[in-house]
Amino acid sequence: MKDNGYLSEVFGIEEILLKKDYYCEDELYHLYERNVKNCEKCRLAKGRTNIVFGEGNPKAELMFIGEGPGAEEDKQGRPFVGRAGQLLTKMIEAMKFKRSEVYIANIVKCRPPNNRAPFQDEITTCIPYLHKQVEIISPKVIVCLGSIAVSSLLNTTKAISKVRGEFRDFRGIKVMPTFHPAYLLRNPKMKKLAWEDLQKVMKLLGKL
Ligand code: URA
Ligand code: SF4
Repeated sequence: MKDNGYLSEVFGIEEILLKKDYYCEDELYHLYERNVKNCEKCRLAKGRTNIVFGEGNPKAELMFIGEGPGAEEDKQGRPFVGRAGQLLTKMIEAMKFKRSEVYIANIVKCRPPNNRAPFQDEITTCIPYLHKQVEIISPKVIVCLGSIAVSSLLNTTKAISKVRGEFRDFRGIKVMPTFHPAYLLRNPKMKKLAWEDLQKVMKLLGKL
């Protein structure tokens, strides 16, 4: 592991800025290593090939939250790398970010069988890991993708079509609920609305 004390001693004051990088990376690394890597707290542990912890910039100002790994994500251990993931990558780039500049995570870290939605007890068991990731990364904005992610993060029972497009709050962080890219693949006409939502985020982050 990186030694932050050594770094600041050797490099002096400027390194304090850099230290936040190392600090976040370390914190995420420890969360993964100590808590998530061998987690068997819910029944989804049984069916997984790989845990999909999340990936990206540990101090991203923009974070995306999906529902849970699909087949391709389970195979690779990375979030949003299947068909929906390719669309998400395009959405991120349309927002004038690189995929590597943002952070991408899911509500549950293990793939539900046959791509079913995660059950409430699985969500309740797994979501503290996501809360910790959000706390560590501390982004300016979270884009919450699809009804499961939105209802789980924001504790709402309102339909995604009712809550999308307006900023909400999660522990002082702005959250933009919008459609899931898998939904957009099935309903391409909704892309226009999703793009409106993402543009509000761009505006907030000075990208428009
Ligand atoms: N859908 C999700 O919600 N998350 C992924 O990581 C991939 C597809
Ligand atoms: Fe643990 Fe979450 Fe995987 Fe369940 S889904 S086993 S709580 S990491």
